[in-house]
Amino acid sequence: MAAVLAVVVLIVAIAVGLKGARASESEQSTSPGPASPAGATSTTSTTPPSSTTTSPTRATTSSTTTSPTRATPSSSKRTYRSTGRYRAVPTRSPVRGTKGELITYRIEVEQGARVSPRGFATAVDRTLRHPRGWTARGHWRFQRVTTTDADLTIRLATPDTVDKQCAAAGANTHGYTSCRAGQYVLLNLDRWLEGVPHIKDLELYRHYLVNHEVGHGLGLGHQRCPRKGSPAPVMVQQTLSLHGCTANAWPRSADGRLITGPSAP
Ligand SMILES: [Zn+2]
Repeated sequence: MAAVLAVVVLIVAIAVGLKGARASESEQSTSPGPASPAGATSTTSTTPPSSTTTSPTRATTSSTTTSPTRATPSSSKRTYRSTGRYRAVPTRSPVRGTKGELITYRIEVEQGARVSPRGFATAVDRTLRHPRGWTARGHWRFQRVTTTDADLTIRLATPDTVDKQCAAAGANTHGYTSCRAGQYVLLNLDRWLEGVPHIKDLELYRHYLVNHEVGHGLGLGHQRCPRKGSPAPVMVQQTLSLHGCTANAWPRSADGRLITGPSAP
């Protein structure tokens, strides 16, 4: 009987591990206030106000704090390893959107992340072609390409790798957030797999993460929650806090209006 139980437990453990490994997808970053065009200099993250706090541990005081609380570690967390090498998706997509500037993007997943590059690409494609996304109203079109000279290279990477590559561009991601650095969008694997505690819907969060970081790639800076209870603009750093707004993944409302807020400093 004990042997049977052990086998059952082992099978369940394997199934859970596989499920975690297959759940793919990505995140969002911190970038400086002013908008900078795609391909321009790297984004820099908001510096946490650690110097102004009395606590030696990371402050949990305000929205500008990075990673106020780390998400509860999950079983998926230990199943990946950082390699700093990437696997690119070798296929292209049709052009999405009807008019506007064409933005090409390449998809890469860090080797060792144990996430399917194709699955991740499918999720990013879905976000970028959504009717409430950046293609709405003919401002931009998107196409996934395989070449390395894409306008944006969207990478799903382990926290250590995100930290290294973002730091090289001047952004501090604290093992928690994501960033856009030049042509690279670096999404934190933990956030992609686990989301954040204050946004319960992981699918919503993943859409948000892609839209937010690609928004930086389109030249947009951070915004603030316009008023309590309103949907948060996608350029709010929702990974850190909603500031009284409600979680929102999309640049536009269902009736096509842009969801915006005041520029963040
Ligand atoms: Zn940002």
